[in-house]
Amino acid sequence: MKLKYLGTAAYEGFPGLFCECEACKQAEREGGKNIRTRTSMLINEDTLMDFSPDAYLHKLKYNLNLAAIRYFVITHSHSDHFNPWDLVARCEGNYAHFDEANKGSTVHVYGNDKVEAYLDQVVQVEFGGNQNFIDYHRVTPFETYEAGKLKVTPLLAQHQTDEQSLIYLIEEEGKVLLYGNDTGIFPEETFEYLKNIKLDVISLDCTHGTRHKGGYGHLGLESCVEIKERLLEMGSATQQTTFILTHFSHNGGLCHEALEEKAIPHGFIISYDGMELTV
Ligand SMILES: [Zn+2]
Ligand SMILES: [Zn+2]
Ligand SMILES: [Zn+2]
Repeated sequence: MKLKYLGTAAYEGFPGLFCECEACKQAEREGGKNIRTRTSMLINEDTLMDFSPDAYLHKLKYNLNLAAIRYFVITHSHSDHFNPWDLVARCEGNYAHFDEANKGSTVHVYGNDKVEAYLDQVVQVEFGGNQNFIDYHRVTPFETYEAGKLKVTPLLAQHQTDEQSLIYLIEEEGKVLLYGNDTGIFPEETFEYLKNIKLDVISLDCTHGTRHKGGYGHLGLESCVEIKERLLEMGSATQQTTFILTHFSHNGGLCHEALEEKAIPHGFIISYDGMELTV
């Protein structure tokens, strides 16, 4: 399974869209890995985890063929994770013209009821309610779905009270990724489900950095360590498991190198935009 972090920032981006704080100024000054766009991950060539408001930028920056994406796996309806206004630009004939391989194709979108309602609202505004290129799957937590070659299992996140946010287990050929944002410390049902699973890669929300512990709604380094220790204790993770942190905010105050200094001793990799790995 090939993974590529397209965006690694929280909602407002890092540097923040309108921000003049010290961390944002440093990121602008130093560039490189300090510049983080809104969150999304590409899996193989045909699956996107979350659909970022920066998808267009990602297409340009990484030379992505978004026409080849067949599966959009969405965690929740927050605008840094799901941008239906851009998804409708996949409407063939109106906004997109496809090569033979993609002509007449539909895409599968997986998400909760709120993501579905948001998408319906946009389809209503754009097309008067009808479209024929998106097949929406309202998922049930802890049920497994097949998205092409991937097995996709939504697990409960602990993110906000007015929406059932999800994190996902993604499996291909015996390799397992836990895509873990946005979330605080996982709910007990999620830990319970993970008991019998061996994870190869764990990617966690680290929105708060070291500013505070986190654990409710989002994670910070300290609560990421807590999750790591619990997963190791449960046997769901081993010394061979790769732990990666993502979804960073300027409010954490730390740019890439400073994050690495704090996180590497705890066995975490700090993700950056464009980071690739093969599981
Ligand atoms: Zn977010
Ligand atoms: Zn800032
Ligand atoms: Zn969120």
